[in-house]
Amino acid sequence: MLVLDSVTVRYGEHLAVDDANLRFSAGSSVVALLGPSGSGKSTVLRAIAGLEPLLTGRITFAGTDISEVPVHRRNIGLVFQDGQLFPHRTVAGNVAYGLTIRRPGQNSVLPRDARDARVAELLALVGLHGYENRRVDQLSGGEAQRVALARALAPHPRLLLLDEPLSALDKGLRERLAMDIRRIVADSGTPALVVTHDQSEAAFLADEIAVIIDGRIRQIAPPRKLWSAPADRAVASFLGYTSIVPAEVEHGVARSALGATSVDVPDGPAELALSADSLVVARHGPITGVVTSLAVLPDGLRLRVVIDGHGEFAARGAVHDEVLVGGIGEVVRLGLDGRRTGVIRPVQADSHVR
Ligand code: ADP
Ligand code: MG
Repeated sequence: MLVLDSVTVRYGEHLAVDDANLRFSAGSSVVALLGPSGSGKSTVLRAIAGLEPLLTGRITFAGTDISEVPVHRRNIGLVFQDGQLFPHRTVAGNVAYGLTIRRPGQNSVLPRDARDARVAELLALVGLHGYENRRVDQLSGGEAQRVALARALAPHPRLLLLDEPLSALDKGLRERLAMDIRRIVADSGTPALVVTHDQSEAAFLADEIAVIIDGRIRQIAPPRKLWSAPADRAVASFLGYTSIVPAEVEHGVARSALGATSVDVPDGPAELALSADSLVVARHGPITGVVTSLAVLPDGLRLRVVIDGHGEFAARGAVHDEVLVGGIGEVVRLGLDGRRTGVIRPVQADSHVR
């Protein structure tokens, strides 16, 4: 198990990682580190790999402090955005790379036969059976990332770190490869921490998502919990929730002036976090709004509405609901879609300052 305990990393005056705590349970094989650009994701990975010194805190693996262990002795596999394959080696030459250098505790490198067998095993695992003699500059982007993954896994690392492994690929390929990476990593039995700035990608890749914003890890939760109960407004905003409405949670239901949604947070004051999908056009909906803009997209209506006393909100509808919307300046009836709505439990709720 990997534990980051109050880890702080500073570049000059800039606090890139601020008191990060992360506990990597053996049960979840892939954890995603999700955050906007510049939030400190790569710095966390570099610190775990030993490429960045810690200002404070410590990193332990299986109970042993590795904070002072040099990079090459940590036995951690790394995969970067662009794979960084060796261009003059074949696919097999790349995958075998980590097997040709002597590792700590080993007296000699693997014999040739064992090395070839391991390369073939890894290529089969990543879906590139028979690719041994291909040149790496003739691979597609997705194939190159599979080779990078195979290369990282070949020396049996105890942990795999992947930094935006999909972001150089075409959008259509990302979802597919994300699910493949998740399966490959699970099949390899190696726990992995994967960095991404894309929330869907995080959910395709990981069992658990750690959200980092401004160098601080704000929340660690399975995707379902993260979408339904973001820890604070910054997390909610990053996840695409654009409006906040006060609410009260009682017996698992959060009630607000705009409607109710069921949620898994304790009773007490809370906030509903609304996305562009939360308010939906509904013939007999309980909320009325005035339409301020309307667009008809392939997957439905996108509108903005002003709700008296609450301000302006995004809303959506099915294409055939256009008849219910009328036009700009007209009144439309809306309902709250609880599946697309989050609930934030404010920390202040427990405070004695009321
Ligand atoms: P992310 O991977 O989430 O985009 P990084 O971890 O790369 O973020 O960077 C976090 C912050 O630290 C950013 O503000 C970045 O500009 C800064 N930073 C990263 N590397 C360095 C460096 N070597 N020197 C100075 N500042 C850096
Ligand atoms: Mg980065």
